[in-house]
Amino acid sequence: MKRTLIAASLVACSFSAAAQTSTEEPNIIYIIGDGMGFEYISAYRYAMSDLETHTVAPIEFDAMLTGAATTYPEDKTWVTDSAAGATALATGEKTYNGAIGVDNDKHPLKTIMEMAKDNGWATGAVSTSQVNHATPASFFNHHPSRYEYNEIADLIAEQVVNGHPSFDVLLGGGRSYFERVDKNWFEILPDYGLAITTDLNSLDEIDETPVLGTFAPKGLPFAIDGDVNALAKMTDAALRLLEPKEGSFALMIEGSEIDWCGHANDIACAVHEMDGLNRALKVVREFQEKHPNTLVVMTADHSTGGLTLGRDGDYAWYSDRVMNIESSISSMVSDLLKLDTEKWAGYVADKVNYDMSEEYIDELMSAADEDEKDRKDALHDALIYITGDITGTGWTTSGHTGVDVPVFARGPHSEAFRGYMNNTDIAKVLIDIVK
Ligand SMILES: [Zn+2]
Repeated sequence: MKRTLIAASLVACSFSAAAQTSTEEPNIIYIIGDGMGFEYISAYRYAMSDLETHTVAPIEFDAMLTGAATTYPEDKTWVTDSAAGATALATGEKTYNGAIGVDNDKHPLKTIMEMAKDNGWATGAVSTSQVNHATPASFFNHHPSRYEYNEIADLIAEQVVNGHPSFDVLLGGGRSYFERVDKNWFEILPDYGLAITTDLNSLDEIDETPVLGTFAPKGLPFAIDGDVNALAKMTDAALRLLEPKEGSFALMIEGSEIDWCGHANDIACAVHEMDGLNRALKVVREFQEKHPNTLVVMTADHSTGGLTLGRDGDYAWYSDRVMNIESSISSMVSDLLKLDTEKWAGYVADKVNYDMSEEYIDELMSAADEDEKDRKDALHDALIYITGDITGTGWTTSGHTGVDVPVFARGPHSEAFRGYMNNTDIAKVLIDIVK
């Protein structure tokens, strides 16, 4: 009984401490798993777990789950793209597929980052995609079409030239859109006070803002083929640069390529992207433990691929076989295109660490009969079939799906993210905090 009383008074103390710190607006860390429907969380959790002993792995995602969100755009479809999804999450307004921070009449919508900047907050974004890709772009820019990458890079650069960048830290891929034949922004922007870096492993040396870091010509290499810690490293650098600034900060973190693996129907690729995001979440949790006046909110813009665990009537999904796959399908395809066809089956067996059945070999060799121009797609299709069949993974589409996505939150105001939400409501809660 006595012990209970002591515990209760300790709780009361910690509450009053929290109340004191929360007089200042909290920092906001807003995380988007692009394409990360619930099924990707399930796949990642099982992939990290042990099937033999049924030991379920603790993953960063599970402790933060608070609800679910619907993602439909303002178009004649329930299925959103990343631009409409990110615009909804950045502005609280639904729009058409393809829109970057503009409404259905192509008028600019003020984003949470722009509002935060107006109110003296520091702002930033990190992504594994190019920084001018749909999700990060929708938080800082306004453009009628997500596909005009050079124009969106120009919008980012012009903010710097005009002396009012809406970001302090912008890290990701996309070097080729800034270092172009027609315009080399990297030669121009340092004169306007922008620090530029292109080396992910020298991020520790960066100590000035605003900073633009582009660590690949377009998107960063997939986590399964490259650096699984890339997103965690960028997250760590962004927090280090934003935290000391006066006032609060808002940081958007995107696990961009979960979606790309989903479009490719590549389960091993997707699970490793989830691992990259999980590592970034660990960095975020450790930051939040040191800086409790920080609200962390995470969701997805939509799900991708119609991923499911189990197929063809079998009650099975082989997490161990997923983790035995060593390369993304796209990297296997590039290698196979350079190899003699008689080496194909052996190469794939080595990469997937699984014996190639007659059926698998037939699938693969059917691509050898294709013209050069169709061979790449045929190889990709064969590898989707082989990796899906080995692991028990199903896919319904190479595009997005309209299923609900998870919502996660921790820290001050996190109770506002409980239950079922519209994706625009997530943004509206956050906008109320920065306004
Ligand atoms: Zn997306």
